[in-house]
Amino acid sequence: MKPDTPAHPMPADGAARKAVRPVICYPVEGLPAPDLAPFHAARAGWEKVNEVLVPAREARCFNVPAGHFFRITSVNGPQVGDLNLWNAHDLNERFFSGKTRALHGTHLSAGDRMWSSLPHLRSLATITEDTLDWYQFDAFGGGVHDVIGTRCDPYTHNLLSHGGQYHHCCHSNLTRALADRTGLPLQVAELHVHDVLNVFMCTGFTRDTGQYFMKASPVRPGDFIEFFADIDLLGALSACPGGDCSAEHSSDQAACHPLLVEVFRPMTPPVGWAPSPANGYDRSHGR
Ligand SMILES: [Zn+2]
Repeated sequence: MKPDTPAHPMPADGAARKAVRPVICYPVEGLPAPDLAPFHAARAGWEKVNEVLVPAREARCFNVPAGHFFRITSVNGPQVGDLNLWNAHDLNERFFSGKTRALHGTHLSAGDRMWSSLPHLRSLATITEDTLDWYQFDAFGGGVHDVIGTRCDPYTHNLLSHGGQYHHCCHSNLTRALADRTGLPLQVAELHVHDVLNVFMCTGFTRDTGQYFMKASPVRPGDFIEFFADIDLLGALSACPGGDCSAEHSSDQAACHPLLVEVFRPMTPPVGWAPSPANGYDRSHGR
């Protein structure tokens, strides 16, 4: 955190330096938001091909073929979820939270894409509907569906609790789910777990200290976020032990609820859609 009392005095032109207006890091015109109308039209007559109920304080994996939709829906009560996505054929290509944040901002909604890790960097999935888009940003600067947090994990808990051992953090839940799905040893599967999309979680940075905060999620049963798979995906979703994340996580104290994942196959692909191509960089790195 920034010190209350800086050790170094402001230089004479310090105020002028601070007054320089920011510019957006990435020119967003190069990444136009997709037209969602063909995606919405493609839902007509779609068929549900799979459904997974993720139990509270657990995670489950699910496959979504390219050209299919998947929805994550709140059931029973307010609950946040931690989502991992991989290329179904190569676990080394996985969701890249940091670059997605740099391209789309701190919190995602309909029209944003979930980008994959280097050296791939292509769209894994496009968000096609978000029933919580009305929330926008609240007076605290909080928003829903962030890519600024990581995932609750037992290592941070161990540090902060001076030795605590808690086994149902999202990191561990995702690790067990991936190991169960792939047959990988637990500690190999763990290395594939990555920073998440915090589905339904309401978070931000405090305006005065810049600290990561969470508050009770505005999600209610029936709310959903819907995605369209741009390549064949393996997903994993953890129903966070924080419940609605109004108080604490990394414990069994919060009221927790399951989350529903449904996969839908459209009758025909959205007009104009094609699977994500490989990134065009030649990987020569100047040599
Ligand atoms: Zn969690």
